[in-house]
Amino acid sequence: MAIQWFPGHMHLTKKAISERIKEIDVVIELLDARLPGSSANPMLAELTSRRPALKVINKQDLADPARTALWLAHYNALPNTRAIELDASETAPARRLIQAARELAPLRGGMVKPMRVLICGIPNVGKSTLINTLTGKRAAKTGDEAGITKAEQRISLADDFYLYDTPGMLWPRIIVAKSGYNLAASGAIGRNAFDEEEVALELLDYLLQNYPALLQARYKVELTDGITDEQLLEAIGRKRGAVLPRGKVNLQKAAEIVIHEFRAATLGRITLETPEEFAQWLAAGQLIDAERQVKKDGLENQRLIRLKKIPRPPRAAS
Ligand code: GDP
Repeated sequence: MAIQWFPGHMHLTKKAISERIKEIDVVIELLDARLPGSSANPMLAELTSRRPALKVINKQDLADPARTALWLAHYNALPNTRAIELDASETAPARRLIQAARELAPLRGGMVKPMRVLICGIPNVGKSTLINTLTGKRAAKTGDEAGITKAEQRISLADDFYLYDTPGMLWPRIIVAKSGYNLAASGAIGRNAFDEEEVALELLDYLLQNYPALLQARYKVELTDGITDEQLLEAIGRKRGAVLPRGKVNLQKAAEIVIHEFRAATLGRITLETPEEFAQWLAAGQLIDAERQVKKDGLENQRLIRLKKIPRPPRAAS
């Protein structure tokens, strides 16, 4: 079953961003390098009125470097777009952010026309960590309630360079089932919104096809030809002693191990999607979305026709 997750509050963020965007020159979107496509917010381009975009492929230390290079090339080939890779080990990221933003909006700068950039990203992508590095703070500043606008921050990265934090929370929008699984595996989705076993099986299925050597090195299980994700999960559980009293494998425990080791990168540096794969998933997802809309419109039309046919009650004589 695909993951359905509607955390809400997005309308508040939409409104706040469209207000704020009037005074913004460049929009920085933080993406998770392990799933750059799925961790993007597909509505952001519209919300930001197609302002120049700087894609920061963050947490690159966890991702497959060869695939990060593919994503950088993909974004750098788009109009009005630049991309850089980053991770929390970089102690002074401001210089590269400033340089990339200046390339995108060369006419801004100086005290009369200071550069104003907005930083956005779905939860867990590393935004607070980056902002804290930029401001030299240690503790993360968090809102009292998830999804409610935090006090807006303006950070001065240079005399003529202001960085604004997104007003509100930018949630991912799950258009394709695969994105839902990848977001869940990465830790971007609330724990109660998905089934660990299902997410681990999807993850193992992808790793079997794309990173078999890492699986073998970590779990020391034999990857026989045609081994299924279910068989692999069971073998991992058995290896790790996740066994129930009657000798059955505790698949829930095994799934938690796999997800944890993917997140911590003890499994290795892995990226769950290439630009090409993601484009295919997206196209398939959009098709399903469009079909659903046509069906909905059809039902709505039928309802209107039925309503028209209902005779009006005669008016009471006055
Ligand atoms: P936010 O929800 O976008 O503000 O994300 P946080 O800054 O709170 O980071 C979420 C988690 O990712 C935290 O456990 C961070 O320590 C971790 N994290 C942030 N940036 C990086 C990074 O570049 N590399 C790695 N490996 N972990 C990171």
